[in-house]
Amino acid sequence: MVEVRGLCQRLGVALSEGEPLAPLTSLRIGGEALFCARPPAWGVVPALLEGLWSFGVAFRVLGAGSNLLVEEGPLGFGVVQLRRCGGAARWEGATVEADADVPLPALAAEAVRRGLAGLESLAGVPGTVGGAVIMNAGAYGGEMAGVMTDVALIERGGGVVWRPVSSLRFGYRTSDVAARGVVAGCRMRLSPGDRAALAERFEAHRAKRLATQPWNEPTAGSVFKNPAGDFAGRILETLGFKGRRRGGAGFSQKHANFLVNHGGATFADAWGLCEEARAAAAAAGTTLEYEMEVWRRAA
Ligand SMILES: Cc1cc2nc3c(=O)[nH]c(=O)nc-3n(C[C@H](O)[C@H](O)[C@H](O)COP(=O)(O)OP(=O)(O)OC[C@H]3O[C@@H](n4cnc5c(N)ncnc54)[C@H](O)[C@@H]3O)c2cc1C
Repeated sequence: MVEVRGLCQRLGVALSEGEPLAPLTSLRIGGEALFCARPPAWGVVPALLEGLWSFGVAFRVLGAGSNLLVEEGPLGFGVVQLRRCGGAARWEGATVEADADVPLPALAAEAVRRGLAGLESLAGVPGTVGGAVIMNAGAYGGEMAGVMTDVALIERGGGVVWRPVSSLRFGYRTSDVAARGVVAGCRMRLSPGDRAALAERFEAHRAKRLATQPWNEPTAGSVFKNPAGDFAGRILETLGFKGRRRGGAGFSQKHANFLVNHGGATFADAWGLCEEARAAAAAAGTTLEYEMEVWRRAA
């Protein structure tokens, strides 16, 4: 830790040790990271990461924490929170370059205000641009990979490098980007559209979300990916998991594929319930794959 402290001090990066992650995640579950480093500006991020890599310190990158289930107890790794680094979105015609800490909902709303199509279906996906790139976030037929042209990566030993999307692998709620580096931003090409029609689609998606998802409760979004040609929510509902609880955790009454922290949920409650659902689906012949990311304690 001595070297991490020195590095952060030199770079003017706020550092806290033994940081509980529960308040930094939307599900509000999780133990203590060895440290949490919060760079105040993008200018210092490459040097911070390079330093941590060179020390061999175990760490993970955290955005807005809206796709995570984190185990309790001392986690054995640190986190670098790329959420408030003073990032911005730079618009030029139908192209936008957004830093990774920009909130995706704000970016999507701004695109609609500018009469640009491509992000309106992602309007209600919480989190940062960086998290959305990694997860290839998507909704209602649209996904990040469909609008991005390039991703800015901070690569070990290489600083910031722009990589064309064609050189990266994106799939349904997955990518190989995290294995390549840390996302500093991305470039998107949107298409000019009718502002009123876009605003209408944006509102329709928002209204659908509010009506069908537990948006005002602590949740990490969809627990499982939809199997090809089916919906994880439908499967869970058929198996009787809609509204099912274990301790403080439960599958939502509003949407069977959303796990909710009803208050005081532990990792054991949440994980136990998810694994029970996965086993029930497997017994019924369907393999459910996690969409939500699970951070376990380092061994
Ligand atoms: C109510 C609700 C609704 C949701 N609906 C949707 C939906 O419709 N569609 C959908 O796709 N998702 C949905 N989600 C999940 C979540 O919003 C997305 O996965 C989002 O893109 C995660 O962004 P984040 O900043 O919160 O990432 P985090 O949860 O902080 O991190 C997710 C992953 O990305 C990595 N990461 C984050 N930032 C960076 C970076 N800059 N560089 C490298 N790695 C990074 C983390 O290490 C982690 O592996 C929903 C979540 C909630 C709570």
